[in-house]
Amino acid sequence: MKNSSKKIALVTGANKGIGFEVARQLGKAGYTVVMGARNVKLGQEAVAKLRAEQLDVCEVELDLGRPETIEAAAAMIGTEFQRLDVLVNNAGIADAADGLPSTAKIDAIERVMRTNFIGAVAVTQAVLPLLRKSAGARIVNVSSGLGSLALHSDPNWEYAPVKILGYCASKAALNMFTVQLAYELRDTTIKVNSADPGYTKTDLNGNQGHQTVEEGAAETVRLALLPEDGPTGGYFATAGPNPW
Ligand code: NAP
Repeated sequence: MKNSSKKIALVTGANKGIGFEVARQLGKAGYTVVMGARNVKLGQEAVAKLRAEQLDVCEVELDLGRPETIEAAAAMIGTEFQRLDVLVNNAGIADAADGLPSTAKIDAIERVMRTNFIGAVAVTQAVLPLLRKSAGARIVNVSSGLGSLALHSDPNWEYAPVKILGYCASKAALNMFTVQLAYELRDTTIKVNSADPGYTKTDLNGNQGHQTVEEGAAETVRLALLPEDGPTGGYFATAGPNPW
């Protein structure tokens, strides 16, 4: 058991991409970061990279598709740290068989919803008792501009042609989780927000994004480090609030 006065963060899908960079930046901000990875070896390799930068990180097996790993991760954090100050629901997938509303494969829609939406809800529910023990916890749901109904309704929006039903619906559902959980927790010190990273060069999009991972992680990190008078129940990109 560690009796740490340092703040503790859990980042899901932290072995690469935006999640890895969020873990790095929270580590640099002085947090102890628990790096969730579904592949234990990849998680250990990611931890080794950040420890080489003198950051205080550890790995935990966390596969959104395997509820027993979610429960075990929550139990480990409870035993080691007794509380959690930041949860970043970052892990997510796109699926090659997802696509336009008329043709997207049903099983692909189901896979994406299960990971990007239901997985985030399950992790949050599992660690919420630990977040309640923090003086002022922050939950950041890593959404996407593609989760905005308002932006998708504008035919002139830059990404209007990107109608990938399962992925977009999973992020819209994640946004609903943000709004409802923030309302439910409105009388607590816990803040819940959605982050839109922007189009970022990672494996998720075959490294086609135009932003660096540093740029893609920035808004999520800002929301994870919000001061007491910061917002809750919001949806933000680096440039400012997104329309829902
Ligand atoms: P990425 O490089 O593909 O990283 C995704 C991470 O999620 C990986 O660590 C992956 O683990 C993990 N993951 C996937 N399924 C999982 C599961 N079932 N259980 C646990 N972990 C799982 O993609 P990224 O771009 O950094 O994406 C991070 C988040 O940003 C996602 O939620 C994504 O939707 C969102 N986002 C990205 C962009 C963008 O342009 N890149 C834009 C908007 C939103 P493995 O290594 O084992 O696959």
